[in-house]
Amino acid sequence: MKRYLVQTHGCQMNVHDSRRIEEVLAKEGYERTDDSQLADLIVINTCSVREKAEHKLLSLLGTMKPLKDERPSVVLAVAGCVAQQEGAKLLGRVPHVDIVLGPDNIAELPGLVSHVEREKTSIARTVFDVHDPRFLDAGAELSRRDREVSSFVTVMKGCNERCTFCIVPTTRGPERYRASSDVIREVRALVEGGVREVTLLGQTVNSWHEPGAVADDDSDDELGNPRNMGESQFARLLRAIAHEVPGLARLRYTSPHPRHVTDALVRAHAELEVLPAHVHLPVQSGSNRVLRRMSRRYTREHYVARARALLASRPRFTLSTDFIVGFPGETEDDFRETLALVEEVGFSAAFCFKYSQRPGTPALKLEDDVSEADKDERLARLFAAVETSQRQNLASLVGTRTKVLIEDLGREGDDGIARWKGRSERHEIVHVEAPPELDLRGQFLEAAIVHANAHSLMGRVEGDLSGLPRREAPAPRAPSDEPRTEHGRRRLPVTKSA
Ligand code: SF4
Repeated sequence: MKRYLVQTHGCQMNVHDSRRIEEVLAKEGYERTDDSQLADLIVINTCSVREKAEHKLLSLLGTMKPLKDERPSVVLAVAGCVAQQEGAKLLGRVPHVDIVLGPDNIAELPGLVSHVEREKTSIARTVFDVHDPRFLDAGAELSRRDREVSSFVTVMKGCNERCTFCIVPTTRGPERYRASSDVIREVRALVEGGVREVTLLGQTVNSWHEPGAVADDDSDDELGNPRNMGESQFARLLRAIAHEVPGLARLRYTSPHPRHVTDALVRAHAELEVLPAHVHLPVQSGSNRVLRRMSRRYTREHYVARARALLASRPRFTLSTDFIVGFPGETEDDFRETLALVEEVGFSAAFCFKYSQRPGTPALKLEDDVSEADKDERLARLFAAVETSQRQNLASLVGTRTKVLIEDLGREGDDGIARWKGRSERHEIVHVEAPPELDLRGQFLEAAIVHANAHSLMGRVEGDLSGLPRREAPAPRAPSDEPRTEHGRRRLPVTKSA
């Protein structure tokens, strides 16, 4: 039996693609290994969104050279956005790479491996499936095997926006949409296999529309904001999933674009219990001047109005976001508007990045005129503001009750108590304790929040736990010298939330 190893670097979309690669290989009889010495096929799946991704890939591939020299029969494949961007050029630059594979060509991987083995040659396949888009299933079998609590389902791919800092429209192509019937079928199969939470994936997931149907109005008004604030086919998709798959405990989606947060989507959050009380809504900057230079196609006022509508849709609704600091032309006044936005919206978390030039992006034409020192200083101030906002949110939850989807066992104590880690409906990490013989994985439990850590919560599951499943074999207790609380219990690990 052949063995494969997949190394993933990058965003959720890449993680999802790696999963599809595994699914495709498993169907061909491949077995997974974590040991490169045992692998017949090594796939490096990389993202080009992050800084210096290409440089990192080249140095990673350099470390594979001795392995290829020692075992020339190992097939080395590079997949993901860097592969899509570089194509056959990568084969010239790194001759020990055998396959360059674009995101739309994952299903072809086993055939390409056979081709390389048979013809003793390298090959690049980076063709977008624009006219006949294919969406690989999330793989209910793998989910069942791995006892996955949470899984991703792609509903659209590509992006029609042209944010000037972003390479995605080049590496993932134009938007293509998946039929709602296929999405629902896949969600149902995952839930029947034991998955409790599904996250719908797409670059601008809420621009989804039924393939072949007329898209929602995407025109701009005179201020450059979307004209359509009312209806959305994406909201109808959420309702259809909620209705057709009642066993689904939680339905998330990522990443929505602020242009497509319609009233219909807000209403769906207010009315569908399966939707979380949280959305990750990237804003990038709080300054209209910078948003225009980024070609984000909305104003700060539009973002705030949509954020307010979502925050009002359910009690204790939270928003997280993405920021880029030091974008070309960003002044101190622009940056202060970003800081003010953190306070105005009260984000529960944010991913904050310093701007850096990326090959192939429109922003390359703009002078990268904010000094590194200023970028560093602004980033530190932004981190501090987000940290304050996050702490305030967590502290405000102490004394409340929340539904927690238990994802995994945290650390097992030598005090006979198991610590489990889950997520609230707002996506905060919640640690709960339980007797060691119980298996809480995948349980959807109500917990009282008793303490707020810096980046997570501690909860107490209340009620009768006797009906919960038992673990097959509780792990042996390990002696520990970790710090303990004044009551003799080990402190729970503090994990940074997203
Ligand atoms: S919306 Fe903008 S940032 Fe997001 S994927 Fe599309 S181009 Fe990139």
